[in-house]
Amino acid sequence: MASFDVIIIGGGPGGYVCAIRCAQLGLKVGVVEGRDTLGGTCLNVGCIPSKALLHATHSLHEAEHNFAKMGLKGKSPSVDWDQMKAYKQETIDGNTKGIEFLFKKNKVTWLKGWGTIPAAGQVKVGDEVHEAKSIVIATGSEPASLAGVEVDEKTIVTSTGALVLNKIPKSMVVIGAGVIGLEMGSVYARLGTEVTVVEYLDAITPGMDAEVAKAFQKILTKQGIKFILGAAVQGATAKGGKAKVTYKLRKDDSEVTLDTDCVLVATGRKPYVDGLGLEALGVEMEKRGQVKTHHFATNIKGVYALGDAIVGPMLAHKAEDEGMALAEILAGKSGHVNYDVIPGVIYTTPEVASVGQTEEQLKEAGRAYKVGKFSFMGNARAKAIFQADGFVKILADKDTDRILGAHIIGPMAGDLIHEVCVAMEFGASAQDLALTCHAHPTYSEAVREAALACGDGAIHA
Ligand SMILES: Cc1cc2nc3c(=O)[nH]c(=O)nc-3n(C[C@H](O)[C@H](O)[C@H](O)COP(=O)(O)OP(=O)(O)OC[C@H]3O[C@@H](n4cnc5c(N)ncnc54)[C@H](O)[C@@H]3O)c2cc1C
Repeated sequence: MASFDVIIIGGGPGGYVCAIRCAQLGLKVGVVEGRDTLGGTCLNVGCIPSKALLHATHSLHEAEHNFAKMGLKGKSPSVDWDQMKAYKQETIDGNTKGIEFLFKKNKVTWLKGWGTIPAAGQVKVGDEVHEAKSIVIATGSEPASLAGVEVDEKTIVTSTGALVLNKIPKSMVVIGAGVIGLEMGSVYARLGTEVTVVEYLDAITPGMDAEVAKAFQKILTKQGIKFILGAAVQGATAKGGKAKVTYKLRKDDSEVTLDTDCVLVATGRKPYVDGLGLEALGVEMEKRGQVKTHHFATNIKGVYALGDAIVGPMLAHKAEDEGMALAEILAGKSGHVNYDVIPGVIYTTPEVASVGQTEEQLKEAGRAYKVGKFSFMGNARAKAIFQADGFVKILADKDTDRILGAHIIGPMAGDLIHEVCVAMEFGASAQDLALTCHAHPTYSEAVREAALACGDGAIHA
C-alpha cells in the first residue's frame, strides 16, 4: 500500500495532464492505468492514430491529384497498407512513450492495472489498496452502440477497429456524419474505398455553423464521399466478411438496404466508468451516464472527475484544460476552464475549425450580430496549394464589435482558429484582429480579412 496526495484513475489526456501539473505543484501523485500504454483513447486509438492516417492519405491525394500540376511527374505511389499501419503504430508508440518519460521526469507513479474506489480516500489496483487525499476519475469514454448493429470490430467496426482493418475495403458505410465518421471516411475514400455516409439528421456535423456544414458537405461530395441524410439506420449485420445496412428514410419511411464490405459505426461516444464501484460509493450521475460534478467535485468528498467522463465536449484539449484546472484547485489555487472558448476541429482536407457561437445560436438568442466573411479564393497562399475552396467567417456583436464566434473551412483551419481563441479570451473586437499585422503570404491573412469584413470591408475580396 502507498499513500498519495492524489490518485488519478485513467492515463488519458485529462488524467496525465492533471498528474503532471499536480506533480509540478508539489503534490505526490499516482496514476492508475489499465492499458499497456499511457495516453488514453487520444494517443492509442483516437486523435493521434487517426491524424497519422489522415496525413498519410492526404499525402497520397497530393501525389495523385496535385503533383503533376506542380511539375512533379511520374507514377503515383502505390499503397502498402501494412506499412501505413506500421507508421501509424510508430507514431502512437513515440507519443505514449513520451508520456511515460514525462511521468518519470515529474515523479508521477504509474500504478499499472484497473482501479476501483472501494471507499473515499482509497483506490484498489489488483490486490493492493492505496490511500489518497483526493481521487480523480479520468476514465474517459468508449464508442456508443446503436440498436440492431452488432460490432465485431472486423466487418462492423467502431473507430478503434477502423484504425486496424486487415485490408482496405472496396466499400464502406459510415453510420453518423460527425467528426470521427468524416475523418475516417476521408481516410478510406482517399485509399480508394467507396464511402457512403448515412446520417439521421438532415445535415452533416450536427452543431456546426450551418453555412460551413453545407460548404463542407459539398467539398466532401466532390472528393467522392456519398451522403444519405435524414436516414435512420435500423440495423446492420455481417456475414462472411460482408455486411448489410438497413436504413429508413425519415421523409417517406421507405426502407433501403445497402450491401458493403465494411460498416463504421460512428454515432458518438459515451462515458466509461465501468467497474469503478461508483454506485456502491454513492456517486451521483447525470442522466446520460456522465459523473455529475460541480467544479470537478462529485457529491462524495475528495472524489473528483474530469474529461470525457463528465459533461461537455468530448475533446482531448477540453480534458487537458480540466486536468490543469483541477490540479490547481487540488494544490489550493484557483483553477478555471472557459467553456465558451473551446475550439473544435475536423482534420479532413480542408480542415474545419470553429470556436464560440454559430450564427444559428446567435439568432436563437436574439443577439444582434454582424458577419465578416472572406473566401480563401482571395488568399494567394491557399490558391498556390489548390485549397482555395473554403472561407473564414467571423461573427461579432453588432454594436460593440466584440468577437462572438469564428468558423473556418480551409487550409490549416485547426491552427488558424487559435488567434481568434486568444482574441476572444482577451475580449477583443473584430477590429483588434483587423488592425493586427499578419505576415504575407500566410493563410492567417484570411482571418484578418474576415475581421476587416466585419468593418469597412476586406481588401482582397
Ligand atoms: C477516432 C478518434 C479520434 C479523435 N480525435 C480527436 C481529435 O482530433 N481531437 C480531440 O480533441 N479529440 C479527439 N478525440 C477524442 C479524445 O480522444 C477524447 O476526448 C480524449 O481522449 C478524452 O480524454 P480523457 O482523458 O477524458 O479519457 P481517455 O483518453 O479515454 O482516457 C481514459 C483512460 O482511462 C483508462 N481507464 C478507464 N477505466 C479505468 C480503470 N478503472 N482503471 C484504470 N484505467 C482506466 C482507459 O484505459 C483510458 O486509457 C478522438 C476520439 C476518437 C475515438
